[in-house]
Amino acid sequence: MTKKTRNWKPQTALVHGGTLRSGFGETAEAMYLTQGYVYETAQAAEARFKGEEPGFIYSRYANPTVDMFEKRMCALEGAEDARATASGMAAVTAALLCSVKAGDHIVAARALFGSCRWVVETLAPRYGIEATLVDGTDIANWEKAVRPNTKLFFLESPTNPTLEVVDIAAVAALANSIGARLVVDNVFATPLQQKPLQLGAHIVVYSATKHIDGQGRCLGGVILSDKKWIDENLHDYFRHTGPSLSPFNAWTLLKGLETLPLRVRQQTESAGKIADFLAEQPEIARVIYPGRDDHPQAAIVKKQMSGGSTLICLDVKGGKQAAFALQNALDIVLISNNLGDAKSLITHPATTTHKNLSDEARAELGIGPGTLRLSVGLEDTDDLLEDIAQALKAVK
Ligand SMILES: *Cc1c(COP(=O)(O)O)cnc(C)c1O
Repeated sequence: MTKKTRNWKPQTALVHGGTLRSGFGETAEAMYLTQGYVYETAQAAEARFKGEEPGFIYSRYANPTVDMFEKRMCALEGAEDARATASGMAAVTAALLCSVKAGDHIVAARALFGSCRWVVETLAPRYGIEATLVDGTDIANWEKAVRPNTKLFFLESPTNPTLEVVDIAAVAALANSIGARLVVDNVFATPLQQKPLQLGAHIVVYSATKHIDGQGRCLGGVILSDKKWIDENLHDYFRHTGPSLSPFNAWTLLKGLETLPLRVRQQTESAGKIADFLAEQPEIARVIYPGRDDHPQAAIVKKQMSGGSTLICLDVKGGKQAAFALQNALDIVLISNNLGDAKSLITHPATTTHKNLSDEARAELGIGPGTLRLSVGLEDTDDLLEDIAQALKAVK
């Protein structure tokens, strides 16, 4: 039995949405750790394979626990349909490759998560799909990059790690004007603080590894769009290439969704206070935070995001040495390249997540030797402020 999700606000949908309760009436979502399904009769198997009878066939195709996760994500995102994947990168790769074919052209914002950039810049051209990377913050750059064979636009907003913001509605309008599609990687905003489908995007992808799990346990991803696009473009790819999410991880992510609004609210509130504190410190050259008035695209933030961010980008004066000193002096905040976790995490993009880019490509993205990305966790805000204050003394 699936509950109706009509008119539910996010906090309700995230607790009850998509629940498929078995005959035992369990309270918590059941974990169906099964590869396959059995049929009463040979005729029933035939009918199910023909699609004449509903039901599950094989867990590479679909699984009840994974189904609950997909339905709950649809309820949150306001999407008609979804497919869950084993990782965020499996979701991004499927969303992009299922939208184009050899001879097509992709325009993407150059500020992309490292692996997303590899898919667009390195993998896609191997199959005859050309890509142009642009500075996504100016719509004129997107317009200039359009070719007669442009079929897909791809962006991430806010971006990793410099939290640049791209005008999603403007790029969606451009995509619609030429009959192309827009894929938005909405990880940094979370499904609560930005609704790309409402802004005109056609496909939204998440790494559920980040805020959706939010407790550092498992990888996962999800692609959300209209039913027609999923049926026509994604369905067969999924069945036959198998990027499927494990039922165990789907269950973990379902539990993550229950507390997502509470966690994101708390983490954003803390991050706002920490960003304001950092902006006042003499050791810090620059703070980029989507909730502050001095954010380079503050007007677009106001237009398309309903909250700030759980992430902060900062530049420490004194370059790499000072950035390393600050990281090493932190007690509570851990050095890790993950984000969206209950634990506060800090990373130095130039030597970790963005180490494969050339110096010029990094400079273009605003990633300097002193740049750090801080993902604010669920610890007490005052404890975090105190930890950062004591660590800043190590920089002096
Ligand atoms: C982490 C991340 C991904 C990749 O997700 P995985 O679950 O690690 O595969 C893609 N895009 C963005 C913006 C991310 O932060």
